[in-house]
Amino acid sequence: MQELTKEELTRYSRHLILPEVGIEGQRRLKSGRVLLIGTGGLGSPVALYLAAAGVGTLGIVDFDVVDETNLQRQILHGTRDILRPKIASARDRIEEINPHVNVESFETRLDSGNALKIFKDFDIIIDGTDNYATRYLVNDACVLLGKPNVYGSIFRFEGQASVFHSEVSHGVKGPCYRCLYPAPPPPGLVPTCSEGGVLGVLPGIIGCIQANEAIKLLLGDGETLAGRLLLFDSWKMKFRELKLRKDPHCPICGAHPVITELIDYEEFCGLKPHADEEPIESITAAELKQLLDTAPESVRIVDIREPHEIAMGMLPRSRAVPFGQVVRRKNEFTPGITHVFVCKIGVRSALAIRALKDAGFTGRLVNLKDGTNAWAQEIDDSVAVY
Ligand code: ZN
Repeated sequence: MQELTKEELTRYSRHLILPEVGIEGQRRLKSGRVLLIGTGGLGSPVALYLAAAGVGTLGIVDFDVVDETNLQRQILHGTRDILRPKIASARDRIEEINPHVNVESFETRLDSGNALKIFKDFDIIIDGTDNYATRYLVNDACVLLGKPNVYGSIFRFEGQASVFHSEVSHGVKGPCYRCLYPAPPPPGLVPTCSEGGVLGVLPGIIGCIQANEAIKLLLGDGETLAGRLLLFDSWKMKFRELKLRKDPHCPICGAHPVITELIDYEEFCGLKPHADEEPIESITAAELKQLLDTAPESVRIVDIREPHEIAMGMLPRSRAVPFGQVVRRKNEFTPGITHVFVCKIGVRSALAIRALKDAGFTGRLVNLKDGTNAWAQEIDDSVAVY
């Protein structure tokens, strides 16, 4: 284990006087290697507190750039960082808090091809992702490599946290994410934070819990959330706890695992079209504008967003049919006319088209590529980007 310098003895003095940490514990933290997947809402407080606490090496994985809509909760990044790679502003902020921390950055989208290689040199993986495909990938890679997975997730006012696949007694690992959720929900059923919103403080609270658990794992002491799922409701200010059991039939950590290597997680989460499905036709904002200028009668625009999103501005000549009502109201669509479906970024509208086709609608359905955000950026700035 690495020794502490004189400067570090001063910096960490409030840890050193805790008998549960002490010099030995602080040396463990300094020798620790923790990998953060994502430097967003959850990754921000995790990075800030682990850096301040003196974790020796922080790995950060992100491919995104800082967007204005991130700043409401992603406190690693500031206003002047807009359009910078998150990995760059995260590194600056971590080094500002604690120059003794060694930052290893991976500016890449985590996938089945790189996950094991990136994970293998770290002691603990912290899941700060916002989508199911990456969450299953992180879980599976942790199980395959035998590393603990500090899990957190957030939506609107509710959050969850646990510690998966960590040693609960000598040589025995606790449950993993798949023991709790063997399969993801159908695509489109659970909205993402960008669709459903999130209270800005919530990832701060859940991320701090993840940082807290990571520190105990590095210290090898205290009671972690292994085998327990913590549920938090920020609106009612209630914490609840569920006991988690390891599933003996778990497809990856059970007695007879069927997943023995990383799989295609986009496909597993139903995000790729099946081979027998015809591709969905799409149109760009510029093409749609031209169509509306030249042959407005040939096309009807169906806006499937929720009422609070509609309030951000609509495309001309469009009609609101919320996503949840599309199939039920299929008789309102005329087979002889082209319907262009729109949502914020073109993901839910494509799912609505798929659902309508599955329900037997045979007319021409076209998806607006990149949604109302593209329309707002390229055609009409009276519609809000959000
Ligand atoms: Zn499992």
